[in-house]
Amino acid sequence: MDKKKKKKLFHWGRILVQIVMFLSAPSLFAQAFAAVKETAGTLGKGGVLTVSGFVIRLFILCIITFFFGRIFCGWLCAFGAVNDWIYQLSSFLQKKTGKKLPRIPEKWIPGLQKIKYFILLFILVCCFFDRSGWITKNSPWTVFSLLTARNLKLAEYMTALLFCLLFVIGMIFHERFFCQFFCPMGAIFSLLPELPLTSLKRQEKDCIKGCSACQKNCPVHIKLGGNNLQSGECIRCGRCLTICPKGNISAGFHKSRL
Ligand code: SF4
Ligand code: SF4
Ligand code: SF4
Repeated sequence: MDKKKKKKLFHWGRILVQIVMFLSAPSLFAQAFAAVKETAGTLGKGGVLTVSGFVIRLFILCIITFFFGRIFCGWLCAFGAVNDWIYQLSSFLQKKTGKKLPRIPEKWIPGLQKIKYFILLFILVCCFFDRSGWITKNSPWTVFSLLTARNLKLAEYMTALLFCLLFVIGMIFHERFFCQFFCPMGAIFSLLPELPLTSLKRQEKDCIKGCSACQKNCPVHIKLGGNNLQSGECIRCGRCLTICPKGNISAGFHKSRL
């Protein structure tokens, strides 16, 4: 099979997996995060931690991340898929109309990517002090979960709906807008240690002079320096592997992180 066909197959294969996950487990990320809120709330009340269904889901996703990096974010998360689809549609329309939307300046991105850690901290503190109900009521994920369950009774979730709309607007302008900058679950995944089983490496010495196709096309703006492309931000989408004209990037057992 030639390179072009492989690239197409990879691209559509990933979209297919995302669609299947969107239809079969649209709220998995929110359920896993419910375990984080539940744990903070129980600790706040001085209660005893129990192994609920949410905790089991969180544990499974953390184990997957430990072994394979953030493959859940790149391939399996329904909300991540929505980020992708909205941006893909926006890019397609921008190409068709020849009108480019303004982009977030590159130098702001590392700073913006840190916002998610503050959001995580804020949610943990709220839950610790028994305000998890308030978080759930105002969370865009609540709206997403209701919509994917075909429940349109959103009247009592107007703030959450507003947040959801703002994030959707952000997704039109910037790839993986919510995932990169605001997702508290993404913050947890990015802090988890990972085995180097699927980490990425490139043969920088064989790179085409002046080429930065892999970096330009990375949805989460991984700063490529040297040979190792591993970073807690990497969502293992695999795009850099397929985009490289020289096949210089590989996934496998490598020791160091960025
Ligand atoms: S960062 Fe959050 S919303 Fe995005 S794919 Fe990961 S868990 Fe899902
Ligand atoms: S480094 Fe590669 S696999 Fe990781 S997010 Fe960027 S393009 Fe995807
Ligand atoms: S796309 Fe390939 S050749 Fe170009 S900089 Fe990246 S690894 Fe090197």
